[in-house]
Amino acid sequence: MSEPPFHDRDGWIWHNGDMVPWRDAKVHLLTHGLHYASSVFEGERAYNGKIFKLREHSQRLLDSGESLGFEYDFTVEQIDDACRELIEKNDLPNCYIRPVAFKGSEFMGVINTQNSVHVAIAAWPWEYIGAAGQTQGLRLCKSIYNRPSTEFFPSTVKAAGLYTTNTLNKNHAHKAGYDDCLVLGPRGTIAESTSANMFLVIDGQLHTPVPDCFLNGITRQTVIELAKGEGIEVVERDIPVGDLAKASEVFLTGTAVEVTPVASVNYDDAKYDFKVMGDVETRLIQRFREVTGMS
Ligand code: PMP
Repeated sequence: MSEPPFHDRDGWIWHNGDMVPWRDAKVHLLTHGLHYASSVFEGERAYNGKIFKLREHSQRLLDSGESLGFEYDFTVEQIDDACRELIEKNDLPNCYIRPVAFKGSEFMGVINTQNSVHVAIAAWPWEYIGAAGQTQGLRLCKSIYNRPSTEFFPSTVKAAGLYTTNTLNKNHAHKAGYDDCLVLGPRGTIAESTSANMFLVIDGQLHTPVPDCFLNGITRQTVIELAKGEGIEVVERDIPVGDLAKASEVFLTGTAVEVTPVASVNYDDAKYDFKVMGDVETRLIQRFREVTGMS
């Protein structure tokens, strides 16, 4: 049986301080966030009833909104509490959590200074990659669009508008028979995938791009700490695509994908293959499972 659509499910969604039955959690069609992408969001995971890095995610939601000029009616503590109450109310100790903040429908037009800020939170079980994906590794292709530079917009922010190109890149990958894309930054060096950060294992060191044109993921920061704890040297630098030839393992990190190996990258005429669940990946995935409370 196929999954029910997201507007037709059982459960509760938190909206501006209230628990609303899932099917009644609606906004008007003339909502500013829908027309002009005045929207920011988060993705979090709960493991055995505890939301991993909850405070960091709630704070990032507030900070992302501030980049869009949002003034919130909720504090970081209130957003933390709402996330906890929501998973409790929905009885979802292991789930994905999606807070979103967006401008409402009071006024229509590009300017939105008078529009209210809505905050909503939903949660559902989400096996994004699945165990098979983790053990087989992902296959990536070249993206259609690169990341924008920060001169265009602070492209390190988790703003919905920036996901226009991520969605087009991801759609492109799926149509071409791949799992995801390798997305470059404005300098033509490796940035990330469409929804996760990227690491390369080169001569036992962990190389990862400088997060100046993409989200410095909370999972990315966690994995860097875990690697250092394992005595693995971490190098943050501009990484040309050709350096994939030097990598023995490549993996992605993100709340949804967690830590997932990449099996190959097809880029123009080149195909780069990597060991899946190599030594470094195996160690870091094990440590990640421990710190998240998965095992
Ligand atoms: N890059 C993009 C484009 C993403 O959407 C995400 C997921 N939020 C990440 C990186 C990883 O961020 P995090 O580890 O904080 O989930």
